[in-house]
Amino acid sequence: TGMSQKWLQEYVDDWVSFYRKHTSEGEVASYIPALKEAKQDHLGISIIGMHGMKIRSGDVDVKFTIQSISKVLSFIVACMERGVAYMLDKVDVEPTGEAFNSIMHLEMKQLKKPFNPLVNAGAITVSSMLCGETSEEKLDPLLTLMEKILGHRPNINLEVYESERETSTRNKAIGYYLLETGFLESDIEVTLDTYFKQCSLEVTIDDLARIGLILANDGKDPDSEEHFIPRQVARLAKALMLTCGMYDASGKFAAYVGIPAKSGVSGGIIAVSPPRVRNEPLPFMDGCGMAVYGPALDSKGNSTAGIRLLRHIATQWDLSIF
Ligand code: GLN
Repeated sequence: TGMSQKWLQEYVDDWVSFYRKHTSEGEVASYIPALKEAKQDHLGISIIGMHGMKIRSGDVDVKFTIQSISKVLSFIVACMERGVAYMLDKVDVEPTGEAFNSIMHLEMKQLKKPFNPLVNAGAITVSSMLCGETSEEKLDPLLTLMEKILGHRPNINLEVYESERETSTRNKAIGYYLLETGFLESDIEVTLDTYFKQCSLEVTIDDLARIGLILANDGKDPDSEEHFIPRQVARLAKALMLTCGMYDASGKFAAYVGIPAKSGVSGGIIAVSPPRVRNEPLPFMDGCGMAVYGPALDSKGNSTAGIRLLRHIATQWDLSIF
């Protein structure tokens, strides 16, 4: 494994340098002013496999805010607190085909619940369902879950949080619409505050790759065998990531990359490659968590170089779950 890992590392280094060129095609998000400070040409990847394999390349040490990737975690925690059946009764699991902050579907006459937990309307609804009276209480179990998985408790980037809160007219509009239609289960201001704070949690690609590995392994740490997330909830999270995780480019990502993933507007993507039984020249690659960071985004809000890098790796290593 030592030799093969070194060999794979060299390939990944080459791919990162190659795809870094694509960062010039994208744009760093600016609708949350604090995100504008990110470096356009940053690109990094972290891969953590089931069998101790670790590959890191490019700008691996940059801290960034988790943004929409938090929607996966808040949904997982809400399912653990309230039960899967309860959550599925309140939020649907259908892709919208619209942008993440779309308000299009909210006014549909037959709408019984927000479309899915990975678009803003669904995620804000989920934040309202986390147990607790204050945003601190609501986020405590999420932070504790991350602490158990990562070995450290992530902090909130206060600059991004303030910036996001101050420029949140659209999310407020979504929140108030949800309130008016009776979808929210907590106070609107507490709900929005919870949502802004969860989006402002600071992570690295190593953190996200580690969470990806746990999801790949159905919620269980492959080394310690500790079960962090119930299997059914991990499976549900992956199904949502595959169908709704990359905004209105989820179909293309499933077609061309073929693994569950979730992106965020700060330029991170978490991707999950579940283990498969097969005869492969790279058996130790079987089952891994991956994360990329590349803040230059395409028109849908996904890391432009990050998507290309993941697509290349998934093709080279035959990772498609299909
Ligand atoms: N905090 C961001 C927002 O709600 C998250 C969006 C995203 O990452 N796509 O606008």
